Amino acid sequence: MTDLYRVLPEEMDDLVISMGQPRYRADQLLQTLYHDSPIDISSLRQIPSELRDALDSAGYTVGSASKIHQVTSQDGYTVKALLKLGDGTLIETVLMQYKSKEKNHPRSTVCVSTQIGCQMGCTFCATGQMGFERNLKAEEIVAQVLYFTSILRKRGQHVTNLVFMGMGEPLANYAETIRAVRLLTHSRAFGLGQRHITISTVGIMKGIDQLAQEDLQVGLAISLHAPNDILRKKLVPTARPNSVGELIAATRSYFQKTGRRVTLEYALIDGVNDSLETASELATLLKGNGAHVNLIPVNPTAGGFERPRWKRITEFEKILKEAGIHCTVRVEKGSEISAACGQLRTDTTKNI
Ligand code: SAH
Ligand code: SF4
Repeated sequence: MTDLYRVLPEEMDDLVISMGQPRYRADQLLQTLYHDSPIDISSLRQIPSELRDALDSAGYTVGSASKIHQVTSQDGYTVKALLKLGDGTLIETVLMQYKSKEKNHPRSTVCVSTQIGCQMGCTFCATGQMGFERNLKAEEIVAQVLYFTSILRKRGQHVTNLVFMGMGEPLANYAETIRAVRLLTHSRAFGLGQRHITISTVGIMKGIDQLAQEDLQVGLAISLHAPNDILRKKLVPTARPNSVGELIAATRSYFQKTGRRVTLEYALIDGVNDSLETASELATLLKGNGAHVNLIPVNPTAGGFERPRWKRITEFEKILKEAGIHCTVRVEKGSEISAACGQLRTDTTKNI
């Protein structure tokens, strides 16, 4: 069984030709896959029945996720969906909307998961604490975006941005993540601009190097969380001994190769990595680096971590800014529906 949503346009060309059909059938197929919301092979109406039958008997299917549940935040701008995959596993995916001053349609960002659980075990992250179940397939990543696409289409809106910041470590599932990026950005498939995608990683060095070599213009965010290895190891127990230095070097080489500045994510945790000394150490570390720092006041999870008081958050930010470092505090969306960073967890009884 192969889901047509994992087939790249060039592969689709070969597929239809191998079935004795002209190449333009591949475009018809892609058009209907990405612009209608077919639920199975038989609903691909634009495609001649001969080709549909051939695809069916060769074991091709359409779609790998169905909705189980959906919750919307009080302000209506954040939606979390629980989707069921072909093998019965459940994943969560989130839509975050922001009013846009310039445009009359909102910025609509989908936050996708790449794994069920995660092997990295970050102590403040709900996904990290649940352990690892399996990697998601490219089509299961694409399905998360298409789920929200069909909801937005009914409102005359569309997905404008995509972040790989849901459950799991995207670069630990490299091949499927990149296949999903190619499907979602290919002009003959979903067609989202590469620059509208951000991949967030805890710092898989091999994956970062590989990503810089791909001919992609996607943004990279690295989850740093600490200016030194001792502190980082407490938060990211799987970090390598010299991870801070390696990651800082990676921000430079990614910029050199792609021309895109890296974002450094820093989950601010009360009494752990939020002291003013730590802020100064971070400022010294990043001086002249050019990376953008995203401070994320930690969302409470079972680990007992708390976010600092607002005053401390702004003091921390000020120290970085005074050192000339680009820095923003991420305003969290969706925490009351457990849809914020680190709260995604396939635990139906707790979250839904
Ligand atoms: N595995 C990748 C991407 C998924 S996590 C990574 O770690 O980067 C996406 C972001 O959410 C990361 O920056 C992560 O550190 C952050 N995060 C995880 N748990 C969090 C929490 N409880 N509060 C705030 N941010 C959290
Ligand atoms: Fe995995 Fe990212 Fe969570 Fe760490 S923060 S456990 S890498 S999902």
